[in-house]
Amino acid sequence: MKIEIIKCLQDNFSYLLINEKNSDACVIDPGEAKPVLKYIEENKINLKYILNTHHHGDHIGGNKILKDMFKAKILASKDDREKIPMIDIFLNDGQVWKDDIFEFKVIHVPGHTLGHICFYFFNEKTVFTGDTLFSLGCGRVFEGSHKDMFNSLLKLKSLPPVTKVYFGHEYTLNNSIFCNKFDENNPELNRKIIDIKKKLNNGLPTVPSSIKDELDCNIFLRAKNLKEFSKLRDLKDNF
Ligand code: ZN
Ligand code: FE
Repeated sequence: MKIEIIKCLQDNFSYLLINEKNSDACVIDPGEAKPVLKYIEENKINLKYILNTHHHGDHIGGNKILKDMFKAKILASKDDREKIPMIDIFLNDGQVWKDDIFEFKVIHVPGHTLGHICFYFFNEKTVFTGDTLFSLGCGRVFEGSHKDMFNSLLKLKSLPPVTKVYFGHEYTLNNSIFCNKFDENNPELNRKIIDIKKKLNNGLPTVPSSIKDELDCNIFLRAKNLKEFSKLRDLKDNF
C-alpha cells in the first residue's frame, strides 16, 4: 500500500492510499476535490472509498464531487450520520474493516468532535489521526470535554511506538514553539525541531511523525494527568 500526501486548502493534508497491484485507492479527508482529482487523473488510479475522520468542512469538502465522479463509497463514524451527507458505510469504535488490501481498525476519539475517529492501518503500522493528534499538538476541544480528549489521546499513546502518524494539518512549526516554551530542555524535542525545520525549508511536509516521537516530544501527550492537560489546552487556545 502506497501513501500519497495531498495538500488541500490552506494547511490541510488529505491522503491517498493506493493498492499498487491494481491501482485501487482510498482517500482520507478530502478537504477539497481538485488536488485529489489531479493526482487521480495523472496517475490513473481507481478511487473506491472516501474515509472521513470527522464532519468538519475542511475534511469532507471534496466528498460530493469525488463520490459523484467515481461512485466512491463514503465511510465515516455512525455518530456522524446526521453531519456527513451520503455516508455509505457506518463505522463503530473498535471495528476492523477490510476490503482487499485496505484493512484498518476504527479508534473512536471524541474531543475535537463527538464522532471523531482515527483509522489505524495495523498491517502498515500507520494511523491517520485527523484533528485529534497533530505533530507536537492536539486538536482544539470543540464538541467534547477536556476529559474526552485526554482519554482519546491515551488511546493513541497506547499504539506501538513505531506507528507512523499521519495528521490533518500542517501546524507543526507553530506547535513546536508552544512545546518548546514549556519543555525547552527536552533533547528529543530539540532534535525534532531541527528535523522539522529542515523539512519545511526544503518545501517538504512534516508528515509522517511517529507515536514514539510524539510520546517523547508532544507536550500534550507528556501531560501527566487531566489537570495538567487541560491547563495546556487552555493556554494553547490563546497562544
Ligand atoms: Zn476539524
Ligand atoms: Fe481540520
